[in-house]
Amino acid sequence: MIYLDHNATTPLDRRVLDAMTPYLTEQWGNSSSPYRFGNQARIALENARARVAACIGAAADEIVFCASGTEADNLAVRGVAAALRERGNHIVTSSVEHHAVLHTCRALEAEGYRVTYLPVDRDGLVDIEELERNLTPGTILVSVMHANNETGVLQPVGEIARIARERGIVFHSDAVQTAGKLPGMLCHTGADLLSFSAHKFYGPKGVGALYVRRGTPLLARITGGPHEHGLRAGTENVPGIVGLAAALALAVESAGTEAPGSARLRDRFESLVLQTIPGARINGNGAPRVANTSNLSFDAVDGESIVLGLDLSGICISTGSACSTGDPEPSHVLLAMGLSPKEAQGSVRVSLGRHTVAAEIDAAASALERTVARLRAISSL
Ligand code: PLP
Repeated sequence: MIYLDHNATTPLDRRVLDAMTPYLTEQWGNSSSPYRFGNQARIALENARARVAACIGAAADEIVFCASGTEADNLAVRGVAAALRERGNHIVTSSVEHHAVLHTCRALEAEGYRVTYLPVDRDGLVDIEELERNLTPGTILVSVMHANNETGVLQPVGEIARIARERGIVFHSDAVQTAGKLPGMLCHTGADLLSFSAHKFYGPKGVGALYVRRGTPLLARITGGPHEHGLRAGTENVPGIVGLAAALALAVESAGTEAPGSARLRDRFESLVLQTIPGARINGNGAPRVANTSNLSFDAVDGESIVLGLDLSGICISTGSACSTGDPEPSHVLLAMGLSPKEAQGSVRVSLGRHTVAAEIDAAASALERTVARLRAISSL
């Protein structure tokens, strides 16, 4: 198998599994229990919190663990909306967010909030002036993702953070696709809230975290016990959290060396595709992108058929968001970037990982060439 769908998920790193194993086997205590056996779990939990904080440039008490990137996004958006309801009801987000943010905003609209979905340009970038024009005294939250999961396009989050801060507006950024992929501390973006998901950086599935800058107004959305500074009730998943921390530390440590290698392989892949497949286009390549992601469009073929065709050769890629698999609708991200529904439907995402090698890239590019040619020969599109 050649796996080129790392934006959907990554394999668990062996070293991460080793770090988690004691908490799945011998040290399975409840981190809230008062006796020593519980204390051991609590110490592991708090060490993990400090480790995550150190990786992103935060303080330990600014990290809230939860069950996924989706939950972190929900806590951020719904939690700020609830905390600031008296101050205003306006939220600004972008039209290219992951559904974890977009559908949450839609749900809040049904509860009486007003949401502005900022347009993006042909490369998928939010227009800063358009953002500024849309901010009002009633704006309580801006939520714009760091890197897009379908195109890898990086939004100017530092600038957005500065604009939001000047106006006293809370700024959340979904950093699920940048955590562990970019060198440098994510807190330096200036965001008040940042979402993470362990399975995107070689950690376990079903565990996420939200960075909450001290003083950010936020109300719990899952209520119960006093876990996670009262912001997320529920017995902590200690093995998962230990795994998230270990995986993030490993990813952050190697991001500086892995990213340039990944960019070289991605560029090699894109130039092979452009040379061999007539009418191929790369989406978002005029903007800064994370190094591992390539989104490509082809005329007269359907992306879903390309994915299934490559699967027959043992190659895993996707049509965009893994969560949308089986969804016949064209990608909302590509439509927002101005592609026609037909162009959006003829698109695929290739996302490289830590272990991807040049031979895999070459094999995938030539399988893609063969598959597109075969599909075009029988296409009625
Ligand atoms: N946000 C982005 C940008 C993502 O890519 C994903 C996963 O694809 C999520 C949020 C959701 O993360 P999780 O799978 O942990 O719920």
